[in-house]
Amino acid sequence: MNKTELLIIGAGPAGYQAALHAARLGHQVVLAEKDQIGGTCLNRGCVPTKSLLEQAHQWAVSRQKADVQAMRQREQQTVQKLREGIAQLLQSSRVQLIPEQVSIADAHHVCSTQGCWQADHILIATGSAVALPPIEGIEQALTSDDVLRMEQPLPQSVILIGAGVIGMELADLYLDLGVQVTILEAADRCLSMADRQISQSLQMIFKRRGATMIFNARVMRIENHRVEYEVGGQTAVIQAEAVVVATGRRPVLPECEVRLKTDQGRLVISETMQTSVPSIYAAGDAASTIQLAHYASAQAIAAVDHMFGVKNQTDLKTVPSCVYTHPQAAWVGLQQQQAHELGIPLLTGKASTLSNARAQIDQAPRGFVRLLADGRNRQLIGGMIVGDHACEWISTISLAIAQHLTVDQCRAVIFPHPSWSETLQEALLDFDGLAIHTISTRR
Ligand SMILES: Cc1cc2nc3c(=O)[nH]c(=O)nc-3n(C[C@H](O)[C@H](O)[C@H](O)COP(=O)(O)OP(=O)(O)OC[C@H]3O[C@@H](n4cnc5c(N)ncnc54)[C@H](O)[C@@H]3O)c2cc1C
Repeated sequence: MNKTELLIIGAGPAGYQAALHAARLGHQVVLAEKDQIGGTCLNRGCVPTKSLLEQAHQWAVSRQKADVQAMRQREQQTVQKLREGIAQLLQSSRVQLIPEQVSIADAHHVCSTQGCWQADHILIATGSAVALPPIEGIEQALTSDDVLRMEQPLPQSVILIGAGVIGMELADLYLDLGVQVTILEAADRCLSMADRQISQSLQMIFKRRGATMIFNARVMRIENHRVEYEVGGQTAVIQAEAVVVATGRRPVLPECEVRLKTDQGRLVISETMQTSVPSIYAAGDAASTIQLAHYASAQAIAAVDHMFGVKNQTDLKTVPSCVYTHPQAAWVGLQQQQAHELGIPLLTGKASTLSNARAQIDQAPRGFVRLLADGRNRQLIGGMIVGDHACEWISTISLAIAQHLTVDQCRAVIFPHPSWSETLQEALLDFDGLAIHTISTRR
């Protein structure tokens, strides 16, 4: 029988990064993948969506009709290049790849049709798949997987069910491609997991861009591109050339002969990423309610560190959330409501991008930065941004939160001019009414 120190199931961001990290630490690794290296993120998620979103936006700015075939081609080239890069890294790091579906036979054995491996540790990183809500006719709707295979001619109109992160990004894509968009959302706002100010800001911008957004809507039936829904006790019907559903994803678990504890289909894991069987670890979408690629890989690396006795330095509580719309939105740390629930007295600092030179140079729609600090010690505990490149400069706030920096320590930094991040500097100064480019209401 083949033996290894670590056997990883799934080569998405959790699995392949865990494999490379363990190899860098000098351990023997086997990585099983039944489909393509890179998982959902690289093949059906983060990377293809952002490639299409960026290209569609460039077409929209140029005011020309988008060449969807060229967009798809460039997106596929990007994905392939990244996939080949990961394959090379795995090979040069001597990670043994099993290109097959595998199952768990017991606490230390994993099997495929080709045979079994004995492993000191097993890491489950099998990810997630599209979940369809229980709506009559839902099988007629397109999923994000289908949208990514888009072809010309595009539908002239689309109904999007769900205004979470994926729903909003798909709406952004369609709007930039000139498609009429109607969004139906069960909650009372888009991005209901984010602070209300982010939802309100993006709703305003999306409406200005031509989207129709209907909230508190319970979709009941889909039939021939007609969607029946109920809002405020009234039933209504709308029709479009395509219906897209983006209401969530479900964890995917491997076949397993040992009983592993689950909660709502997800593997239950400890702080050390161990399942109810200590030699079996899990990370990423298969085990987490936060379904983000960077969280999946951070968890997976923490799992590897724990199994090989290495001290892990990552603050797994400070997880940035990003929405790659135009403009982008990003937030990290505690939101106001959560801070209130924890009884934390709050200080706030905020600034608009209205007076930011870079935002004006880019002729960008209005955005903002809002920061939260603990009133007892002035440590930064949360932050949110709406504005271009928000998903890049949110990391400055993440670093401050993870390192427990105070507002005053953050102010030690000089921000480059002209840059979007100067809005962050303004928000830091606003804690004490010192923002330079804001009309002062103090005497
Ligand atoms: C449209 C879309 C856009 C997204 N955009 C972003 C974004 O911008 N940023 C972000 O952070 N996140 C984004 N996500 C979420 C992100 O893709 C996931 O959080 C991430 O891929 C989870 O990583 P993972 O390694 O846990 O699982 P996955 O990436 O799902 O990988 C799991 C892998 O395991 C393999 N596998 C499963 N079962 C077995 C088995 N029994 N044997 C062998 N192999 C198996 C699968 O084939 C798959 O390759 C997006 C998702 C979607 C759908």
